[in-house]
Amino acid sequence: MSVIPVAIIGAGPYGLSLAAHLAALKIEHRIFGRPMQFWSNVAAAGGDRFLRTYCFGTNISTPRSGFTFADYSGPRGLETFEPCSIGDFVGYGQWFQQANVPWVEPVDVAQVSGAPHCYKLRLADGTELRAEHVVVAIGLNGFAHVPVALTSLAPGLAAHTSEISSFTSFKGREVAVIGAGQSALEAAALLLEAGAQPSLLVREQSVDWMSRVAQKRSLWRRLRSPISALGSGPVAWTLAHFPGAMYHLPDAARARIFKNYLTPGGAWWLRDRIENRLPVHVGTTVEGARETNGRVVLRLHIDNAGDQSVREMTVDHVIAGTGYDIDVERLSFLDPDLRKSIQRLGRAPRVNARFETSMPGLHVIGPASAMSFGPLFRFVAGCEYASQAVSAQLASRRKAMA
Ligand SMILES: Cc1cc2nc3c(=O)[nH]c(=O)nc-3n(C[C@H](O)[C@H](O)[C@H](O)COP(=O)(O)OP(=O)(O)OC[C@H]3O[C@@H](n4cnc5c(N)ncnc54)[C@H](O)[C@@H]3O)c2cc1C
Repeated sequence: MSVIPVAIIGAGPYGLSLAAHLAALKIEHRIFGRPMQFWSNVAAAGGDRFLRTYCFGTNISTPRSGFTFADYSGPRGLETFEPCSIGDFVGYGQWFQQANVPWVEPVDVAQVSGAPHCYKLRLADGTELRAEHVVVAIGLNGFAHVPVALTSLAPGLAAHTSEISSFTSFKGREVAVIGAGQSALEAAALLLEAGAQPSLLVREQSVDWMSRVAQKRSLWRRLRSPISALGSGPVAWTLAHFPGAMYHLPDAARARIFKNYLTPGGAWWLRDRIENRLPVHVGTTVEGARETNGRVVLRLHIDNAGDQSVREMTVDHVIAGTGYDIDVERLSFLDPDLRKSIQRLGRAPRVNARFETSMPGLHVIGPASAMSFGPLFRFVAGCEYASQAVSAQLASRRKAMA
C-alpha cells in the first residue's frame, strides 16, 4: 500500500487552498472530494442565491497572484463587491481548481483509521492508502443541527435547510421554517418565490437585519466603521485582520466572543424578499411535533413580550434553519477509536496553533476548527491563514526529517 505525506479530505475552498499552498512548497499530497460540491449543491437547489460575504472577503487562497474572486468576476462582468451570486462563486471555485489544483481526485474518503503519522484511508471506490498527515477540510457537511422536537418526524416531513435539493418541489405546500439566521431567512424567501406558502417561526422577539454598507465611503466613515471580510465595524475588522489572535485567548473568552459575534441575522438584500410578504411569528419556539394524516402538527410556545401561551400549527412540511453543531462524533468517516482519541473543546475538536488535533498528524481546518480559532474560520476568509499555518508546519517537519 502506498504511503503519501499528506492526504486532504474535501475539495472546497479550504482543501483547495491548502493544496495550492502545499504545491507551492513542493510538498507531495493527494486531495480527495468533488471540487466545490457543497456550493454546487447550494446553487443547484435553485432560486436567486447570494453570498453573505463580500467578494473581496471570499477568496480561495494561493501564493500565486491573479486568483482572487474579483480576478475571476471582473473580466466576466460579474459583481465584484456584493451581493455575489453563489452560482458565480461555484464558477470561481471550479476555475481556481482547474488552474491551481487540477490533480483533485473526485472521490470521497469513506474511512480513516490508524495511529499518529500512520493513517489508513479507504476511498469510496474501495482503494486504500496510507498517509503520514491527514487534513480534514469537510466544511459544515455532516454537522446540520435539527431540534430534538423534530427528530421523530419522517424524513419526508422535516428537513434541515442543507438537505433541500429543490425549492420548487415545495410548490403549493404550506411550510414552517424555523430560525432567524441567514439560512432560515433565505430558505423562506426561496420557498415563497418557488410558489410555496412559508411561515417563519422565530424564537427571538425580532429578526435582526444587517445594514447595507456603501462601497464608497468618506475616510471618517471608513475609520469609524471599517469593512472587512467579516462585515463592518471594528470587531469584525479585528477578527478578520488578526486571524491567529483569538487562538491565544482563554477558551471561555473565545467562546463568549464566538457566541456574541455569530448572532442570527439576515443580509440586507433578503429583507425586501421577506418583510410583508410572508408571516413571521416572533417569540415562537417549537416544543414538539407529530404527524397527522400526512401533515405536521407543531406545538408552539409563544412568548409575546413576556405573555406566554401554547398553540398548535399544522403544515405540510417543516424546515429547520437551525444551524450547525460541530461535533467530533459526527465525523462518521473517522474510525471510532480515532474519534475517541481526539481532544474536544465542547464537542468540537481542539486544534493547536497549526490546526493539528491531539492525534499527531491529524489536522482539521475550516468551520470545524472555529471553536479553537474563532468566527473567521466559519467563513472562506479564514482559508488563507489556515493554509499558510498548516503548510508551514508540514514544510518544517519535512525539513527536519531530511
Ligand atoms: C447556506 C450557506 C451559506 C453560506 N454562505 C457563506 C458566505 O457567503 N461566505 C462564507 O465565507 N461562508 C459561507 N458559508 C459557510 C461555508 O460553509 C464555509 O465558509 C465554506 O464552505 C468553508 O469551506 P470548506 O472548504 O471548509 O467547506 P466546503 O465548501 O463545504 O467544502 C468541503 C467539501 O468537502 C467535501 N467532503 C465532505 N466529506 C467528504 C469526504 N468524506 N470525502 C471527500 N470530500 C468530502 C464536501 O463535499 C465539500 O465539497 C455558508 C454556509 C451555508 C450553509
